[in-house]
Amino acid sequence: MTHVDTLVVGAGISGLVAASLLHRAGQRVIVLEARDRVGGRVWTVRTDDDILDVGASWIHGTDNNPLADAVHAFGIRTSEFTVGSYQPDGRPIAYYSPTGTRLSEEAVARFADDVRHFDERFAATIAQSPPGTSFGDAVETTLRQLDWNNDRVDRVREFLGHRAEEQLGVDRDLLDAHGLDDDAIEGDEVVFPDGYDELALRLAEGLDVRLEHVVTHVRWGRDGVLVETGAGMFSAKRAVVTVPIGVLQSSSFVVEPPLPEPVSGALSRLAMNSFEKVFLQFPTAFWDENVYAVRQQGEAGHWWHSWYDVTLPHGHPTLLTFAAGPCAQQTRHWSDARIADSVLEALRGLYGERVVTPDRVYVTRWQDDPFSHGSYSYMTVGSRSRDHDDMATPIGDVLHLAGEATWSDDPATVTAALRSGHRAAERILARSVPFGDIWAPAEH
Ligand SMILES: Cc1cc2nc3c(=O)[nH]c(=O)nc-3n(C[C@H](O)[C@H](O)[C@H](O)COP(=O)(O)OP(=O)(O)OC[C@H]3O[C@@H](n4cnc5c(N)ncnc54)[C@H](O)[C@@H]3O)c2cc1C
Repeated sequence: MTHVDTLVVGAGISGLVAASLLHRAGQRVIVLEARDRVGGRVWTVRTDDDILDVGASWIHGTDNNPLADAVHAFGIRTSEFTVGSYQPDGRPIAYYSPTGTRLSEEAVARFADDVRHFDERFAATIAQSPPGTSFGDAVETTLRQLDWNNDRVDRVREFLGHRAEEQLGVDRDLLDAHGLDDDAIEGDEVVFPDGYDELALRLAEGLDVRLEHVVTHVRWGRDGVLVETGAGMFSAKRAVVTVPIGVLQSSSFVVEPPLPEPVSGALSRLAMNSFEKVFLQFPTAFWDENVYAVRQQGEAGHWWHSWYDVTLPHGHPTLLTFAAGPCAQQTRHWSDARIADSVLEALRGLYGERVVTPDRVYVTRWQDDPFSHGSYSYMTVGSRSRDHDDMATPIGDVLHLAGEATWSDDPATVTAALRSGHRAAERILARSVPFGDIWAPAEH
């Protein structure tokens, strides 16, 4: 049996950051990864002429963000695309009314002002709401305070519902009122013209990563950790477990003795979402020029309401939309072709016969992925923000959980994954570690 200082389960961004920092500190580290690739939910699919980020796309705010610093230090190219957080404006967005006519600039500005005004009140409602209040309830409480006509109320209500779905992949009534508290974006958002996976590949350089090692059991005790995989047993003084909460909650991943409080309680209050990407590539672009996104208001946009122009940098006219929350659940077993038809019908409501047949459709299937069981975590009604950090409470000084769901400030993101991996390494090394060590050249 192979014995090392630390075993890291999962080669996503959190696991790679933890492993890389421990390795640089001189530890013997092995990373056990179920898939045949590193990166986890950062996954780039390449063909001869296309690069699609089918997992994460954005850095949600580059200011004061060690993820952005790492990407910069590695020399990875990014392009500004500040529309990844369901903003009402800030960058050009083509809005279409419920009847399919494009809103004037003035009408868009009025609507965005309504959303901002609502958001100020909404923050106060959430702060005052008792535990167990849903995001949807808090929206309704706030709307009742506003002396608006039905149309203004309807537009803002649907926008907030879509925000919950698109940001967290969950119906607004299943999300805790505090589920989007950390939504503030500092600085620009950026995407990766050459693929987000470059980050994972750079982090993995020099590490002992064992691919296609599916971990089934983690046994922990005073003397260390024993990890069973389909490809053999491993032991270590400590382990960092970074599998998504969907895996932790499944019967195919057993921790013995079971996770204690406060970790187990926190884990039971968080859930994996339903969120899929739908890329449509066309021979020619038929949508509005010079806009970052197109949005449909009203009932016609119940499922498909937002399309992002991700043509750059490969130049192949491409729209990205999301099946999010209930839409993702209901279309889960549809074929790609059926999903594409449904999206195209919605686009025809805006562009009529100008809509051309796509020459490629790519639909993600994260809900059916046995190594994630969804795209990322959300707070169920009754959970608390600190549940995220509680998940990372060290267990017996031998077992550490890390990953996007274990970081309270900005969960569900690559930034959270990176920060949680860094925290796990700091705890194991029992000292503070500068973020710069993530990208400093390794000495051995
Ligand atoms: C469609 C989609 C869009 C997203 N968009 C964004 C975005 O734009 N911006 C953003 O910041 N975030 C986004 N996210 C979230 C972001 O991708 C994740 O928060 C982040 O990548 C999670 O990293 P992690 O290390 O915590 O987990 P993961 O990347 O999931 O890493 C965990 C690893 O554990 C492995 N594993 C699982 N089970 C086992 C097992 N039994 N044995 C061994 N290994 C196992 C997995 O294969 C995986 O490699 C998106 C995610 C998805 C899916």
